Amino acid sequence: MAEPVTLQFLGATGAVTGSKFLVEIGPRRILVDAGMFQGEKNLRELNWQRLPVDAASIERVLLTHAHADHSAYLPALFDQGFRGDVWCTEGTARLAEIILLDSAKLQELETEEALLGGYSRHTAPRPLYGTGDAERAIERFRTVDYDRDIDLGGFTARWTRAGHILGSASVRLQIGDVSVLFSGDLGRADHPILDSRDVPPGTRWVLCESTYGDREHPEPELPYEPTVAAINRTIERGGSVLMPAFAIDRTQTLMYVLARLQREGRIPDVPVIVDGPMSMHALDVYRDMPEEFREDVSIDDFTGLRNFTEARTGRDSRKVRERTEPRIIISSSGMLEGGRVLSHLEQLLPHRENTVLITGYQAEGTRGRQLLDGAKHVKIRGAHVRVRAEIAEDRQYSGHADASELVDWLRALDPAPETVFLVHGEPAASTALEARVEDELGLDVVLPTLGEKVLLSERPAPDDD
Ligand SMILES: [Zn+2]
Repeated sequence: MAEPVTLQFLGATGAVTGSKFLVEIGPRRILVDAGMFQGEKNLRELNWQRLPVDAASIERVLLTHAHADHSAYLPALFDQGFRGDVWCTEGTARLAEIILLDSAKLQELETEEALLGGYSRHTAPRPLYGTGDAERAIERFRTVDYDRDIDLGGFTARWTRAGHILGSASVRLQIGDVSVLFSGDLGRADHPILDSRDVPPGTRWVLCESTYGDREHPEPELPYEPTVAAINRTIERGGSVLMPAFAIDRTQTLMYVLARLQREGRIPDVPVIVDGPMSMHALDVYRDMPEEFREDVSIDDFTGLRNFTEARTGRDSRKVRERTEPRIIISSSGMLEGGRVLSHLEQLLPHRENTVLITGYQAEGTRGRQLLDGAKHVKIRGAHVRVRAEIAEDRQYSGHADASELVDWLRALDPAPETVFLVHGEPAASTALEARVEDELGLDVVLPTLGEKVLLSERPAPDDD
């Protein structure tokens, strides 16, 4: 008799972070994604709970993509004794290396500050993991090609392009008769730079993300018109534009779009500065992997940005802030929660001529969300900073499929799934998508809860034993 196959949801239930799905094949354990919980404190505290199974008993990890909410728990697994391999595409391995090292450094820094400041409520604060754990994880990366069944001993895994960020994929497992598909994060039907997502072979069980399950992305008549308008009116009044952006993918997409807008003469050739070491490291990866790009996009489209300056070091960054002419600055973090963007905010927010142009998702409780909600001041490093600058938004850059594009992805699967588990969404988004998938596709939908475990293989018939 075939071994029972179960699936347990260890994250990304009722929330968009912490993606971790445990597949058990008899005594064997495979983890699909190893994401950190991020955002609100009650979520972040989940990172400190040990997994329900011994990390050392997990045989291997399969990653859909490099974003921290899918990969940055990996070093914690190594800290807890995991010693297996980590399987993913080459693009994911390259970007995850940057993300894991950055995450480890950040945690070591926070612990150091807590020790110095004596403000931790723990007697001996320690990081969730350190640089050594991140390095151990990176050494265990094994890379795969897209669209090939990889034999992992008793089951196969297949990565299909997801068009979300460089290297991103959906992962399909075939374990005897049991087939299950993990969507990972899905891109829009078309990505500005990357090859579009593909349709993986269908499976009986499907886990589908639902980040924008309750929203459609706007389609302006002229592409990026809100960006063009915001830049032009700001430069005309002698101000600068700050574009907060996540260092990986969003920054590279913004560079590509700005270069295109310059070429088309839709924005002036004012200086464009990308400020952040992580952004520049990620750009190197994009430069090295042109095979991931759309056919009509080449590396020259990035490097063709006129009047461009990169600020890798802290000194470069200070020099940028000493400049006074109208300019465009791209800096992270994308939700204004940390990083060099804070120094630019302190400098630009109090002056009416400037603009902060938001191009990404702003979670509840972040400074980015406060600005969009019309805050008159924001607190940065303990000080209140007046908001007199214009706050603008362009929602065309989303790296995530909207509700219709999620339904389209599910509709294209052949054979059609029997059961769809909606994960990676706030409750309102998942519930809205649940109704659409049931009405439009007639599929069974389940919204799993944290820790829930389901049997994927057939129950043995009563006379089996
Ligand atoms: Zn993602």
